Amino acid sequence: MKVDRRSFLTTASLFTAYHLVRANVPVLESTSYAEETATEPKKYKITGTITSSERIDTDKYAAYYYVNTENRGWFYIVQNKNARTDNVFLAAYDDEQRQNGLVFPQPDDFSKPVAIVDASGAGLKGDFEIYDTGSGYKVKYNIHPLIVVQNHTSVSSKYLMEADQFIKEMPSPITDALNARGFNYMMAKNVEDLYYHLYPYTKNHDKNNPNDPDKPWLEVKEDGTCVDHRNYSNYPAYYYQKRVLAPQTSYKYGSKQLVDKMDYPVWRKHLVFHETGHAVDYINGDDYSSGVNSSKYASKKLRKIFRYSDSDEFQAAFNIDRERMDPKVKDALAYSVCKSEGRHRECFANLYSALVGGETKESAALLLKTFPNATEYVRKKVFSDFKVKMSVEDIRKKIYSDYLKDVEPLADTELKEAAVLFARMFYESDPTGDKDIKDWVVAGPACCGR
Ligand SMILES: [Zn+2]
Repeated sequence: MKVDRRSFLTTASLFTAYHLVRANVPVLESTSYAEETATEPKKYKITGTITSSERIDTDKYAAYYYVNTENRGWFYIVQNKNARTDNVFLAAYDDEQRQNGLVFPQPDDFSKPVAIVDASGAGLKGDFEIYDTGSGYKVKYNIHPLIVVQNHTSVSSKYLMEADQFIKEMPSPITDALNARGFNYMMAKNVEDLYYHLYPYTKNHDKNNPNDPDKPWLEVKEDGTCVDHRNYSNYPAYYYQKRVLAPQTSYKYGSKQLVDKMDYPVWRKHLVFHETGHAVDYINGDDYSSGVNSSKYASKKLRKIFRYSDSDEFQAAFNIDRERMDPKVKDALAYSVCKSEGRHRECFANLYSALVGGETKESAALLLKTFPNATEYVRKKVFSDFKVKMSVEDIRKKIYSDYLKDVEPLADTELKEAAVLFARMFYESDPTGDKDIKDWVVAGPACCGR
């Protein structure tokens, strides 16, 4: 992340801004501190932010955060408008201060930062680390390693940094495990750069399956099952093959209208947590899933996979909750109730999201009230698998104050019995099914993913 000083200095509006602020700051003779070296990086706070199009080139930059280095003048951390994970922030400073040690004392060890700038002034939880490279300065900010933006694309740096903050809000034993197991949270400008780029069959699929404007995107049938009429271009995000795919824009169902997530803050937050919830569902899986059973793909090379939402316990818990469900909320929760191959991936993802703070107060309350047994499964089984402690009290304090107060979840033994019953029901309607649900085999990457 080295500064390209040419682009910095040719940005006329910024240059003017720089000299406006700089005019008030005395410049010391370089010889007076050239010998000085730093042992500990100095700590700074952001002094101010410039976002006005009159002062910076807003086609290129989202903001300039300036730092008063006291007797050494001003130092700028520049936020690119569109970025990948490796170039969100750049360093900028006066060309006269190019020599080592002129902005910050020269380090003994160039691998160590010469300054730490508290990033809260940029709306971030964390620090900027400033390094002296020997020929200039660079800024480092640690973006969560789950996030990937490939070289051929870029996203709004605000979209990127917000997802970073959300992922860091989740329990780190879970996000660390996702990272260690090769999952990614992939972001790109649009569906073309992401879905069509990674999986060209999705492009063909969309060409052959245009939206039918006479049908709603989610059709709920009499028997409670659903048909999702969207094609890939309509998906705001989706999970596939250890990847969350999260483009900044997608196409509105039934139109060619682009929907930019930057216009929808609540939805944006929900999506980061919900899609990560799908990844958590598959966290113990070793490979791909297309959610089909073994008989259909008997001749293909298959891998084993375990999903929490496939477990008898989760299915049973879900079914009990569904039986007790208030009919008034069925429409609101249609997506949680009826999607995904007779299993309940969407419900699982939503409950994960609700428990870790990805939903609004109202939607979290609705989910946790409606699915107490399924929520308890996520809390007790999933979280404890990763040693994340979350008590009923924690949930009441942070997420939904009436959690389990108005509806009793089943006792563990009852739930176990229900799970056995459910498993029997399920297998009896599917004679090809394996008796041990954990050994379910699924197809390789050939098919559709959803
Ligand atoms: Zn989903």
